[in-house]
Amino acid sequence: MTDSLLLAGGEVLTVDGMDRLDVRVRDGRVVELGTSLDGRVDVDCTGCWVGPGFVDLHTHLREPGQEHKEDMTSGGAAASAGGYTALLAMPNTNPAIDTADRAAWALRRGREVPNIDIAVAGAVTAGRAGQRLADLDGMLEQGVRWFTDDGDSVSTSGLLRAALERLGRHDARISEHAEDASLTAGAVMHAGEVSELLGVPGMPASAEAIIIARDLALVREIGTPLHVQHVSTTEAVELVAQAKSEGLPVTAEATPHHLMFDHTELKGRDPRFKMKPPLRTAFDVQAVQAALSSGIIDAVATDHAPHSREETEEVGLERAAFGVIGLETAAAAVNTAVELPGSEFFDRLSVAPARLGGFTEHGNPVGVGMAANLVVFDPGADWIPQQFRSRSRNSPFTGRRLRGRVRVTLFRGAVAFESGAPDV
Ligand SMILES: [Zn+2]
Repeated sequence: MTDSLLLAGGEVLTVDGMDRLDVRVRDGRVVELGTSLDGRVDVDCTGCWVGPGFVDLHTHLREPGQEHKEDMTSGGAAASAGGYTALLAMPNTNPAIDTADRAAWALRRGREVPNIDIAVAGAVTAGRAGQRLADLDGMLEQGVRWFTDDGDSVSTSGLLRAALERLGRHDARISEHAEDASLTAGAVMHAGEVSELLGVPGMPASAEAIIIARDLALVREIGTPLHVQHVSTTEAVELVAQAKSEGLPVTAEATPHHLMFDHTELKGRDPRFKMKPPLRTAFDVQAVQAALSSGIIDAVATDHAPHSREETEEVGLERAAFGVIGLETAAAAVNTAVELPGSEFFDRLSVAPARLGGFTEHGNPVGVGMAANLVVFDPGADWIPQQFRSRSRNSPFTGRRLRGRVRVTLFRGAVAFESGAPDV
């Protein structure tokens, strides 16, 4: 680390949009912005976009309880390699983050991890068991503002209603994994022609739409913000669009894998394409892509979900765990799947998620005085992901050619990640 860095010649996200500028960083902050700044160039950003580091609203770090898959440190390193400077850790750890003490522990542990700011979401119900509310007040006192039973929907309308009422007084929100479990029990993938071809049980698109519709009915009455996780179907996009047109406090995220792949990837029974919600039809993929472009879907979120080989590749499609890693490939996958101008790319990956997640030192357009949490991203670079900093390897992007690559990640002005050889 040097205490001063000059990033020269990139297209920089400023309050006025993308502009060709040099950026000087010193003592953790952006101190100068201009053309042809003096001094030795530390990072040649020619052809690259320079903007606020990415922010992930949906990361599974597996700590505590499943550190053989990932822990906060390995997940943090994967995040830096993916251009992320902040993330929100999901509470479906073992034990779940469902009390003030557990939230305090997770936040404290997160602060020990270098090069990334880690916030923590709390469970909505005790133990994520869907029986009674978790210690929402205690977690709120610790500063937790996002609550989710992710992995499952909030089990009943009554519990969701009670949680929305409680959280509405605290500028907090529910982040919902929309899946009607009575329609998906035992299912492996999307219910459609590919599941029929393979002879495996499928999850209908309605399993997602039914929960979103239920949730929106409650938000309409109560008004507490609701965030819809990993939107995967045309029906879900339409429900979110309708809610926004009504002015409801509803936001939504899409994952890189739902933007990139459809259910035909499962024809080879490869468990690296197994997740919840499942990969849907090409028609659905187009709807999710269009919604990200238009802003109906506010943010990209990875749903980074590490699993060991013993839980995925080695047991076959039917028995494999649900979920894929995604931090290190997210920005490239989005850039490959959706044609976004630089300013909108940063909006969906950095600005919007930082605003929603309350990360005030992240997601800001580059300007003098801002905390230097930055990413240098080359939107034209082709590469093929083969290796990961994550402790797990369950990526659907392994061996796929992607366009766009993270060159440098700066966390508080220091280099958190720098890519090696430019291209594969
Ligand atoms: Zn989920």
